[in-house]
Amino acid sequence: MRTRTTLVTFSALAGLATLSAPAAAYVRTTTELGVATAWRTPCVTMEFSLGGPPRELDVEGYLGAAQQAGTAWSQASVDGIDRCTNVVFSVESVPAVAGQVGLDYHNRMILRQDRWCSDPLPKDGSCYDPSALAITSVFRNKTSGEILDADVEINAHDFTWGDYLAHPEQFGANTHDFQGTITHEFGHVIGLDHTCFTAGATFSDGTPVPRPLDNKGNSVPLCSAGNLPPAITQATMYVSVATPSGEAELRSLSPDDMQGACEIYPIANNFVCLPPSGSGSTSGGCSYARQPRGDSITGALALLALALVFRARRSD
Ligand SMILES: [Zn+2]
Repeated sequence: MRTRTTLVTFSALAGLATLSAPAAAYVRTTTELGVATAWRTPCVTMEFSLGGPPRELDVEGYLGAAQQAGTAWSQASVDGIDRCTNVVFSVESVPAVAGQVGLDYHNRMILRQDRWCSDPLPKDGSCYDPSALAITSVFRNKTSGEILDADVEINAHDFTWGDYLAHPEQFGANTHDFQGTITHEFGHVIGLDHTCFTAGATFSDGTPVPRPLDNKGNSVPLCSAGNLPPAITQATMYVSVATPSGEAELRSLSPDDMQGACEIYPIANNFVCLPPSGSGSTSGGCSYARQPRGDSITGALALLALALVFRARRSD
């Protein structure tokens, strides 16, 4: 059972805790060239195509949970008593059920219900690992590290999703906390990697992912190593979860998670993200308010996605 101190429930307390308990380390996602990834502006909007969601939560339940997950990474939650970042992470509902993952400058959240496979299917017909709760694909410029698009796919085929804090009685062996899991995925969307390294990970072209360094320049420990310190295993960006209560704890960022958001997107005075342009919009949104599109695309090979996988770990 993982436990976490109460430092993250209230933003002011979170700030105090950050000061009194220095963070250990966070890990940034890098490209094949070793360049750390980040959005050009700290304003990210996800488009959530709910369609007919699984019945465990209603439409408002799914959307509200995703919006809360975005709020966890946003300025108001992360800042605490010290202003440190301008991040605004928004989630808006869109009517179209758009299922495809790819570089289209729309950050999509997709509930995969009929099958746990990419859309379109890869040529070999293979689907995703059924133990994966969710997969985030990040499209970025290999040279500059600029994130251009990120899509989150949620495995609603092999798992059911609920709200563990509101209705723990509804949780069976196969049920997971939606908000906690999405909070983890949104960390990937803003450019954070796991706090430990899974040997054998590859980029989408099959290139092995090198073992990353944390923000202090230390080699990130292997996830399979024993006795990982709590700062690693209790971070929202840890690689897996063992229990629904542990998943619910992911909703609250650890000091390391918050430090990552603040240092990747340090505060700039007088910068304000424009609000999303409204439900149903397919353009605008604060992600691109100051961002001309396409000018950094240097070639198709520079835009490979890194898929980051979040797994259930019930058997440990
Ligand atoms: Zn992950």
